[in-house]
Amino acid sequence: MTTRRDFLQKLSIGIGAVTLLPTSSKASIFSIPSGNEKKLRVALMGLGGYANIVAKAMKTCKRAVLTGIVTGTPSKIPVWKSNYGIADKNIYSYETLHTIADNSDIDVVYITTPNSLHYKHVLQVAATGKHIICEKPLADNAQQAGEMIAACKKAGVKFFVGYRLHFQPHTREIIRMREAGEFGKIMHVNNYMGFKIGDPSQWRLKKGLAGGGAMMDVGIYALNGARYATGEEPLWVTAQETKTDPVKFAEVDETITFQLGFPSGAIASCGTTYNFNNYERFYLIGDKGFAELSPAFGYGPIKGRTHLGKMPQQDVIHQAAQMDGLADCILKDTPDPNMTGEEGLKDMIVIDAVYESIRRGSEKIYLPAQTTL
Ligand code: NDP
Repeated sequence: MTTRRDFLQKLSIGIGAVTLLPTSSKASIFSIPSGNEKKLRVALMGLGGYANIVAKAMKTCKRAVLTGIVTGTPSKIPVWKSNYGIADKNIYSYETLHTIADNSDIDVVYITTPNSLHYKHVLQVAATGKHIICEKPLADNAQQAGEMIAACKKAGVKFFVGYRLHFQPHTREIIRMREAGEFGKIMHVNNYMGFKIGDPSQWRLKKGLAGGGAMMDVGIYALNGARYATGEEPLWVTAQETKTDPVKFAEVDETITFQLGFPSGAIASCGTTYNFNNYERFYLIGDKGFAELSPAFGYGPIKGRTHLGKMPQQDVIHQAAQMDGLADCILKDTPDPNMTGEEGLKDMIVIDAVYESIRRGSEKIYLPAQTTL
């Protein structure tokens, strides 16, 4: 049987000497570009559904531009060349990726491959000396995430996670209000995110490519939201799993509820599923006010209200805001702590604990103080 001490020990070995800084929203308010300011030149790696959304959004970016692609499917190349004007010399396969090191048209590789390939792909890109943006979840577990951060540090490359909501206006405003004390003491958070997944043959249902199920894919939004709702790292985690279709979900989790206890006493009660739709809400209550977003975590438009009334913010194209924001972070060397690999690692630590709690029959899993790991 794994003891709590075993779990904590495994965790600290896994993430090694990574220093985790507190979550903050202070960085990354965009600057206004002058006409001749340098743009961040991006290569997308893994041209699937999400890469297509990012590429389309980037057409509206002011500070980031798509200049390259990495793909294992040659038949996609003509379409991407014609849609985005990608030059032949900026097109790579997974096998030729190492030669990107010499390409001065590309500053950063944005990894949008299936979850369990992120680890391998981040290590490969780090070795080329290019900066990296990697989609969520960062890795299969905290150990891998820690190794990815260490590899990027060693290679001297910047490493970000694709948490687009940190550039989303309603989300940013709620974080600002919480930091300004406008909700008072945070008492409770109630976040959930899920959807009914289709095609039973897709990689999201295969453990070897997805790492896990709904929790890894979209439960991470509820979790990350609980962390920015409180501005704290959880002290303990409990979790429960239900599975109504053990055939379709033979390899990965279908529905998980999880609870987080924070040092201030705030509790988050969260859920995620691959089994039903319209499950998407962020709710935070403090002793002076509240905030609710619904929808909260998808591509929007995000809608919200607080104790002051309807939130007036206009939504934006999340991926464009993210890429313009990250262009500032990378080109001006002002890393946003909410977007770095360390932020992705913090979520992986909690996800590990969620699965561990389920394995142990919903036992309470205690986490070490994350800033001192
Ligand atoms: P897709 O299956 O649509 O695309 C993944 C792409 O990765 C494929 O098209 C393929 O591109 C490449 N690939 C390389 N190896 C494999 C393999 N063994 N099996 C399948 N594909 C492979 O996935 P998504 O675009 O939906 O998701 C990709 C990542 O983006 C995931 O980590 C996911 O969590 C994340 N994501 C994030 C979202 C967000 O809002 N931040 C939203 C949706 C997804 P090629 O043929 O070019 O090699």
